[in-house]
Amino acid sequence: MSNIRVRFAPSPTGHLHIGGARTALFNYLFARHNNGIFILRIEDTDTSRSTEEYIEAIIEGMKWLKLSWDEGPYRQTERFDAYKSYIEKLLQEGKAYYCYCTPEELEQRRKEAIEKGMPQKYAGRCRSLTEPVSDKPFAVRFKMPQEGTTVVTDLIRGVVEFDNSQLEDLVIMRSDGTPTYNFVVVVDDIDMKITHVIRGDDHLNNTPKQMHIYRAFGWEPPQFAHLPMILGSDKTRLSKRHGATSVMAYKETGYLPDALVNYLVRLGWSHGDQEVFTRDELIKYFTIENIGKSAAVFNPEKLLWLNSQYIINEDTKSLAEMAMPFLIKEGIIFEGQQIDIEWLSKAVNTLKERSRTLVELAASLKYYILEYVDIDPKAKEKFLKPENLNSLSELREILSGVSDFTAIELERVFHNFADERSIKLGAIAQPVRVAITGGTASPGLFEVLEIVGKEKILKRLSKVIEG
Ligand code: GLU
Repeated sequence: MSNIRVRFAPSPTGHLHIGGARTALFNYLFARHNNGIFILRIEDTDTSRSTEEYIEAIIEGMKWLKLSWDEGPYRQTERFDAYKSYIEKLLQEGKAYYCYCTPEELEQRRKEAIEKGMPQKYAGRCRSLTEPVSDKPFAVRFKMPQEGTTVVTDLIRGVVEFDNSQLEDLVIMRSDGTPTYNFVVVVDDIDMKITHVIRGDDHLNNTPKQMHIYRAFGWEPPQFAHLPMILGSDKTRLSKRHGATSVMAYKETGYLPDALVNYLVRLGWSHGDQEVFTRDELIKYFTIENIGKSAAVFNPEKLLWLNSQYIINEDTKSLAEMAMPFLIKEGIIFEGQQIDIEWLSKAVNTLKERSRTLVELAASLKYYILEYVDIDPKAKEKFLKPENLNSLSELREILSGVSDFTAIELERVFHNFADERSIKLGAIAQPVRVAITGGTASPGLFEVLEIVGKEKILKRLSKVIEG
């Protein structure tokens, strides 16, 4: 085990989304690659926006993607005592101070600053108070340096310099006694011995502030790696306008978790030209050096393509098992219905190459499972004309006498049938396909017939013949 320790630190103010999942994945892969520790930390200090439901949803999303963590979930709301003692320490050492400015005063001064074209940061009125003011509510502010520069040497972005004159004395505890985000992140990262902070680049501007807080406690900041943004196809920040952004929406629409993981990793990271990776390969190859600097563009078509690749390569039986909840949801089978998984696997095997999602797979499995199928009206008009029905009736008669109901035998029967009547095979095969599957496209007909089975085939043909 190395000493590398990383964390995914979501704020539970929404579901696990594409961007958050990518951050979680990169932390997970970095930890696994380096034999380190991956921590899950729920940043729920903003109690007005955090909910238990979102905490559960985030955990559910992580589990679905199989991003297992080694420690946690820790919750910031359970660590208020720790934050208090860290604040005490800063106050005692004169690195933080009580601020009695009221929100109204601050607002007034902000307005004045705007009018005068001055910077809007806190001007430091309470910084030089030497005695506490009794009976007035107070916040606690951290003394930021006001001169010089702060250099962030980011593992992805390189050297980024910040002018300290831009930094204001940060409120680290509000007047209601709750600690603030930039402060608790640092305390947690210190207590949890975080060595690398891998997070979205929307936090890059917070980094210089956090670095000063680390140093005030006598700690060297961890290494930072700020991930490039994820954009939609129109090059604006990825949002719901670009399609589903919640991870669980992909579960519901029939994506395989490994396909989504594979897609997410390529949003910013690469390994030569390789597109499809096993989990073991990802762990083996993952390094921060191979994360690009430029923004990644979310491409739903590529994700769909990857999903189809994962479906093709998935073990057929486990694919059949994965299809079950979708079959239930579509009303094709009912909850608790006994279904022979070996038989279902055979059906799945014929559909693997033709299904891009589990939803598409389940929709096609319908004609294997149900007694009768709905027939597409256009296909009916074209292929189930009265003259075809006579042939179908003759064929049904022959099929009812076939005892070896296998693809090979059925192929022979169909060829004989066509030869004897001097018609093309398609002239009988296509009407049968429509009668059995409800449409004009399906896997190889004889295989379908074998798997659907004699009894259901005869029933469906009768129904079509009788009209
Ligand atoms: N809680 C922050 C967020 O959800 C992450 C903070 C961090 O990674 O440092 O954006």
